[in-house]
Amino acid sequence: MSVCEQGYLCDVCGGDVEELTDSDLYLRYVLGEIDPESLHLSPERHIRCNPILAQFIVTDGFEPVVVEGYFGKAELDPSFVAEEEFRVSRGYLRLVELPQLELPIIDYPLPEVLLRWQDGAEKVAAELVSRTG
Ligand SMILES: [Zn+2]
Repeated sequence: MSVCEQGYLCDVCGGDVEELTDSDLYLRYVLGEIDPESLHLSPERHIRCNPILAQFIVTDGFEPVVVEGYFGKAELDPSFVAEEEFRVSRGYLRLVELPQLELPIIDYPLPEVLLRWQDGAEKVAAELVSRTG
């Protein structure tokens, strides 16, 4: 193993974060919680080593994570839980599909995140529509 590969060790358990679908860092990037400039400066973690976020991934192929106590879903507002499950599960499914899409890293985040980041993107789109229409 080369020295630079050690940058992908999990901050919590110390194990290798081998796959994109194991990566809490990229999950949060896809969700727009980490901006591109911070991506390579932030510590890597397994998704399952961040159970507070991982408990909201509800989809086939992902074994559910259960958090006991104060930060567990059972203690949280049901409408918040529903929103988070929708949002975080979409982020996870995005991670699953990314290897086939062969996108540059800058395009990894969910479409609504990219729109938020692209300042004035909606205005540009509206202008294009008005030109062609
Ligand atoms: Zn870990």
